Amino acid sequence: MVVMPDPQTTESMQAPSSLEFFKNCPDYAIIFDTQWRILYASPSFEARFCPETKAEGSSLLDILDEVSVIRIRDLQDFLLQGSRHTELHHLTPDGKITTLNYTFFPLSEKIFGQQVIGGIARERSADLASLLEIINLNLELERKQKELSDANARLEQLAATDQMTGLYNRYYFFQVAQHIWEEYRRYKKPATLMMLDLDNFKEVNDTFGHLLGDYVLKETAARLKSRTRRVDILARYGGEEFVLLAPNTDTETGLVLAERLRTAVSDGAYVQGRHRTLASVSIGVSSTELQDFPSFQDLLESSDQALYSAKRSGKNCVYEYSRGMIPRSS
Ligand code: GH3
Ligand code: MG
Ligand code: MG
Repeated sequence: MVVMPDPQTTESMQAPSSLEFFKNCPDYAIIFDTQWRILYASPSFEARFCPETKAEGSSLLDILDEVSVIRIRDLQDFLLQGSRHTELHHLTPDGKITTLNYTFFPLSEKIFGQQVIGGIARERSADLASLLEIINLNLELERKQKELSDANARLEQLAATDQMTGLYNRYYFFQVAQHIWEEYRRYKKPATLMMLDLDNFKEVNDTFGHLLGDYVLKETAARLKSRTRRVDILARYGGEEFVLLAPNTDTETGLVLAERLRTAVSDGAYVQGRHRTLASVSIGVSSTELQDFPSFQDLLESSDQALYSAKRSGKNCVYEYSRGMIPRSS
């Protein structure tokens, strides 16, 4: 039910569109004039606050507590100027007080023939409940996002890791090394690349079995890893072969590092159960300083040629690449 102004005194009495909005609003909705007389109250408002009497025609102030009456009176001028938010305490028919969060705004004079104010409200408890629900949903979302990024990180790590040794795998090595290579080539910075191959490893397997062979591989990887820096990319290249890319490392430093790695592998026996063996490694070293290699593949091949020379000259030694070296295939 809407108390409408007298048609004689108003120029516009077409169906008021803002009234439609109020009627369809799912929240409590009221329209009142400057004398606080309620002109429209939504069914939900009426049912909640004036179930016995009609809301329309009665004063809004009659269903507010004293504090809220003062508050809304103080606000009156502002309510006619623009939208305002405030909390009002409503008296309910069962003698209790409930707090509504209101948004007030002035409505067009043309529609009602006088200055009127619209108010849309929700009970604070309902607001709090939806707020809590939103917070919980957000927390749940954050938890799920964290789970997903952890799972992705684990997957990435799995895809990059050689399962037996825990070192990077060949696939990851090529991805990262290629990238580093391009940077280093552009800025002409030194980088050392070395290929490492365990000596006579077939014999270890043949003599002690594959289990000890596996153990030697894992232990070799651990020894190599503990002698390299965090920035070095150490990977299992295949079978009993490893590869190391040492960024920011000139040839001289690279050769010192290679020698340190060689002795780390050969110093100290590999013991597992009743089996005990020694191991050694041959290392081929090349670097971006030695030659202007046109591609990363060329740099890699030069290390492989140096490794081949190391093997040919008796194994358990470090060889530096030089132009005259015989390629492995010849
Ligand atoms: P060289 O000094 O010339 O390198 O001799 P080598 O015996 O090390 O080289 P060869 O290529 O003849 O043999 C490599 C051996 O490495 C053969 C292969 O069974 C063994 N191998 C490769 N991968 C694994 C592995 O994952 N576990 C074990 N136990 N052995 C492996
Ligand atoms: Mg080999
Ligand atoms: Mg070998």
